[in-house]
Amino acid sequence: MIDFHTHSAASDGALSPSELVDRAAREGVTRLSLTDHDTIAGYLSVASAVPENLELISGVELSCQWGRVGIHVVGLGFDPRAPALTAHLERLNQARMDRAEKIAHKLERADMPGALAGALAVAEGGQIGRPHFARWMVLAGHVESEAVAFKRFLGRGKPGDISMLWPTLEETVVTIRGAGGIAVLAHPLDYKMTATRLRALTRAFADAGGDAIEVINGRPRPGDTDTLWRLVKEHDLRVSVGSDFHRDTTYGARLGIDTAHIPEGFGVWERL
Ligand code: AMP
Ligand code: MN
Ligand code: MN
Ligand code: MN
Repeated sequence: MIDFHTHSAASDGALSPSELVDRAAREGVTRLSLTDHDTIAGYLSVASAVPENLELISGVELSCQWGRVGIHVVGLGFDPRAPALTAHLERLNQARMDRAEKIAHKLERADMPGALAGALAVAEGGQIGRPHFARWMVLAGHVESEAVAFKRFLGRGKPGDISMLWPTLEETVVTIRGAGGIAVLAHPLDYKMTATRLRALTRAFADAGGDAIEVINGRPRPGDTDTLWRLVKEHDLRVSVGSDFHRDTTYGARLGIDTAHIPEGFGVWERL
């Protein structure tokens, strides 16, 4: 059992990094990567103290953009001290804080004062993101659920969806590769692209030096995995898998993916 896409409280997950690692080990995961959004602080905090039966691989889920579209690239197995990677993460940290201020400003104009302080309190020192604003909006009584917060204020095309200048897809892939890591195009079907656009994205990702496509993310819908395997083969890429676990939810994925059904010669795990 492998899991190369998970989140802890160092970004928008519910479990502390050590709780996450312990849970994964208990549930039979043998190789794990903690891939918080735009931070490796959680990984660094547990890297030297993982359970014996589990191998922890360095990881991060980097925000970037391809044209105007926001894309996530998972980096795996990099040197966490590589200077260019550290500089890249500092830049993302600043970008997230700038964006948080803008989101708060929009929410304040929609009669929700104190949004920045509120969201930062929810984040408890973790990398700030929209889910923290959503949680705060529920706690402050502005919306009945986080889903509604996204639907009305934070989701695609809503006031709190700030158009951002993230680093480009190309520089993101180059930074991961430069730090000795493997670059994975995360959840390709979440970008809601036409097949033609998705093929162009995959081509750009592969041309930049990208290594793999995440063919399993959480609980795939019927047909998703076949679509993604076609992309893998068309662009001569490898595959990665992950639960994208954030917290326990009724219908959400559990930690760990059984990779027994994935043919030899494709998994990124063979290279890590
Ligand atoms: P951010 O990285 O700050 O842009 O926030 C994106 C994160 O918000 C994703 O990684 C998900 O964890 C979460 N998210 C995105 N859309 C929704 C939604 N509709 N409802 C709840 N959480 C969401
Ligand atoms: Mn998330
Ligand atoms: Mn993502
Ligand atoms: Mn994720």
